[in-house]
Amino acid sequence: MSTAVQRADFDRYMVPVFNPLEMIFVRGEASRLWDQQGRDYIDFGAGVAVTALGHSHPVLLKALSEQSVKLWHVSNYYTNEPALRLAKKLCEATFAEQVFFCNSGAEANEAALKLARKRGVDINPDKIEIVAFNGSFHGRTFFTVSVGGQPKYSSGMGPNPAGIIHVDFNDIEAVKRVIGAKTCAVIVEPVIGEGGIIPASPEFLQVLRELTTAHDAVLIFDEIQSGNGRTGALYAYMNTEVVPDILTTAKGIGGGFPIGVMLTTAAVGNYFKPGSHGSTFGGNPLACAVAEAAFDFIREPALLASVKDKADRAAAKLRELGQRYGCFSEVRYFGLWFGCEMSPAFANRAGDLISAGAARGVLMLQAGPNVLRIATSLTISEAELDEGLQRLEQACAALAG
Ligand SMILES: *Cc1c(COP(=O)(O)O)cnc(C)c1O
Repeated sequence: MSTAVQRADFDRYMVPVFNPLEMIFVRGEASRLWDQQGRDYIDFGAGVAVTALGHSHPVLLKALSEQSVKLWHVSNYYTNEPALRLAKKLCEATFAEQVFFCNSGAEANEAALKLARKRGVDINPDKIEIVAFNGSFHGRTFFTVSVGGQPKYSSGMGPNPAGIIHVDFNDIEAVKRVIGAKTCAVIVEPVIGEGGIIPASPEFLQVLRELTTAHDAVLIFDEIQSGNGRTGALYAYMNTEVVPDILTTAKGIGGGFPIGVMLTTAAVGNYFKPGSHGSTFGGNPLACAVAEAAFDFIREPALLASVKDKADRAAAKLRELGQRYGCFSEVRYFGLWFGCEMSPAFANRAGDLISAGAARGVLMLQAGPNVLRIATSLTISEAELDEGLQRLEQACAALAG
């Protein structure tokens, strides 16, 4: 049997939930990837906002290799040093007093939603309603996909979990109508990621905070994409006046190693008791050791400041491209996280621009059919940024030509 593999093997051997591009990457360094043919690509997607320190960062390699010869896994019948260190650091750096570790963003939200339901039902058996927003994304488990506000992901699989109410994002009158005594939780992305890089207005977040407090519901911020330095703040809530009761994160905090975290206050977290929830791999020493190193690196003020500087420069360039080629009607950005709205002339052609970019050696993302999304590593160099933008310019020219 040959050990050589190619793209056709995906269609032959993998459940067809994805439709990957043709190239197969074999190596990465900083913000550059190489495919099987040795072609190089500037990585403007960072594995969907995951590889916050780029590829093969020495700090992460050191943490992984040091932990790999000490201890990989012990189960949650025991605790371990990397998990305890990371938990302590997360609590010291944020509003949180307790954390729960798991392996992905969806699992972090699953934990948050179960905790909010448990707390609600403990207070009053009718207190089960979860308020969420159209266009939001919270993961692909059945509970999180039902809470997410994109029916195309949650329909067609039979009955969804009950008690979930969706209203429009940033609609203050709508949340005033639906949040009440039966509400156990409101879950919101401070900046909607998958749904288009759209920020919550400060007034909207303020109203969510006031209403959840008034009705004894928990406010959950889904910072799986917006957290861990993405916006230039350690967590996006730090850009606002509002502090949530629960914050979920994943993606960038592992720098590429799978890990999810739910952070909360003791008052909320203590509604969970031994046995209420769990995970075989959650708090895995390898994952926590890598995440600890990533977190130490990201929370440095100089790193966070550099994210903002690089973002301002890249945004100016993206706006210039948008005008020169008529491809973008607006460029929104929050740190190194950009949403370029396609102009009417290129309506819903973000996918075409991504294909044109990939063919020219720059990897980008979509946030819906009409938004080109760029999420670089936080450590991207000026040279890599410029090279990626040049390749994107060629893609824009090809699309406009
Ligand atoms: C990616 C994402 C998730 C899901 O995370 P997974 O690790 O894919 O389960 C949930 N919420 C938001 C805001 C995300 O961006």
